[in-house]
Amino acid sequence: MFFHVVLTTECNLQCRYCFGEALEDFDEDFAGLNVDYALPKKADYDFALLAKLCRRDPDCVLTFYGGEPLLCIDEIRQIMDTVKPRHFLIQTNGLLLDRLPAEYVNRFHTILVSVDGDEALTDYYRGKGTFRKVINNMKLITRNGFSGELIARMTVMEQTDIYKQVRWLLENKEFTFSSVHWQLNAGFWGNDYQRRDFKHWSETSYVPGIERLARFWVDQMQTRGTVQKLYPFLGIANSLLNGERNSQLRCGGGWINYAIQTDGKIIPCPTMWGMKDYYLGHIKDTNPLELRKLSVTEPCSGCDIMGVCGGRCLYANVTNRWSRDAYAQVCSTVRRLVKAVEAEVPRIKQLINDGKLRLSDFEFVKYNGCEIIP
Ligand code: SF4
Ligand code: SF4
Repeated sequence: MFFHVVLTTECNLQCRYCFGEALEDFDEDFAGLNVDYALPKKADYDFALLAKLCRRDPDCVLTFYGGEPLLCIDEIRQIMDTVKPRHFLIQTNGLLLDRLPAEYVNRFHTILVSVDGDEALTDYYRGKGTFRKVINNMKLITRNGFSGELIARMTVMEQTDIYKQVRWLLENKEFTFSSVHWQLNAGFWGNDYQRRDFKHWSETSYVPGIERLARFWVDQMQTRGTVQKLYPFLGIANSLLNGERNSQLRCGGGWINYAIQTDGKIIPCPTMWGMKDYYLGHIKDTNPLELRKLSVTEPCSGCDIMGVCGGRCLYANVTNRWSRDAYAQVCSTVRRLVKAVEAEVPRIKQLINDGKLRLSDFEFVKYNGCEIIP
């Protein structure tokens, strides 16, 4: 099992798509959901319980998560000193990575760092000076010997030219990433769709951008003989090449990837904190191998591409913060994404047949925090 360990609900940034949207959304509550808004701000349970939970699952993987988990450096050190999962991962905004000693940083199997593209775009979404600090920290941890996977985790919305920004992350002269994941800012807030330009942007910029990017991705395979880890493409291509047509929710939320709240309660996904109807137990007495599994329902269960898509984010499915039509717009981007990868499968198969690539080049660590479907 994978567990997001939510160390704190606090953050040291005020990003437009998170803090900014929350301000606009302040009058929206979760209609019909029983939410506990009084959770501790920091992890408030005995970490020996976390060790006990991990001992019960030989495949236990822990991902530090927040808020911003590096606001809890002492807790990270304590956990890494005493808990023995198969791997430690972290999802961070990267600003404080220089404060965690290299002996700990170098033990991470994967670091997912929030960066939205080049300096202008990252600073526009995340605040002035963010990009520079994060990139300096990427250079620092690399110099200090970090050799695990470093994934640029983009949040994308109307100001993002996906083709240009992903290429920038892969090719710039400052610091290049070989793994990139992107997630749409869609369906998380209650009243943003009406004031945004999501439909127009997704049809005129995002979808043409991913189609072009998929062609570029395979062109790169042809010229370099390697598969760059562009996670949305990689996850779908892996399924198509292996004939897998019954994917479950690809982030693993609620069936193989869970989250531990700051009070020790287990929930299906970190975004579902406080939703009492989805509490699945407490780390003190839960056998991770017997956790209840959730599955997505309508509209996904009746969707013709469910087997490849894997279904809509549980949080979105449960909260229904966007209207039916607005979600349909998101689904249309998923369809086009799947089609864009499908269109490239013959070229990929040819490269495999010619011995330029192996099927195993499309393997990746599943449920590492990349949701695959943006
Ligand atoms: S495309 Fe939309 S409706 Fe279909 S499975 Fe995916 S999220 Fe569900
Ligand atoms: S896609 Fe939704 S359910 Fe899955 S991890 Fe992200 S927020 Fe959670």
